Amino acid sequence: MTTASVSLGLATDPAAEAAPVAEQHLDFMRQALTAAQAATALGEVPVGAVVVMDGAVIAIAHNERETGNDPTAHAEVLALRRAAAALGSWRLTSADLYVTMEPCPMCAGAIVNARLRRVYYGCHDPKAGAVRSLYQILDDRRLNHRVDVVPGVLGGEAAGLLRGFFERLRR
Ligand code: ZN
Repeated sequence: MTTASVSLGLATDPAAEAAPVAEQHLDFMRQALTAAQAATALGEVPVGAVVVMDGAVIAIAHNERETGNDPTAHAEVLALRRAAAALGSWRLTSADLYVTMEPCPMCAGAIVNARLRRVYYGCHDPKAGAVRSLYQILDDRRLNHRVDVVPGVLGGEAAGLLRGFFERLRR
């Protein structure tokens, strides 16, 4: 289990926490948190993601890396795949993603390739985050698409799930 990669520095940046976010967005993030919680029961690192279009959830996923022995089975990638399948199109131009933790480089790449409109994420990931922490892939002007970012949405809850998961593993 690659516990080291996420673990501690799961920052709940107080400044990011303070961002005022409409109740509707909090509801979608709560659904992502519920998915993250479901991952815990499977021994998966608790990260959940929801894709929303026109105010409706079109896909929901949690991390399935252990279950599927699949290094690419992060919640974001699975949610994007399911959203694209539901729409019958890989272009998710008017869709938004809600994910409990800052996406890694792979997921940020997938988000750009899906042409997503906006990403709301919970806690920062200082060890692998590719949206704010280590890289800023979603607003890199050298790429052919840029994605709006709203960090710190219910970040305390998301970080709490992860912290609890890793504490139980160590016991
Ligand atoms: Zn990822």
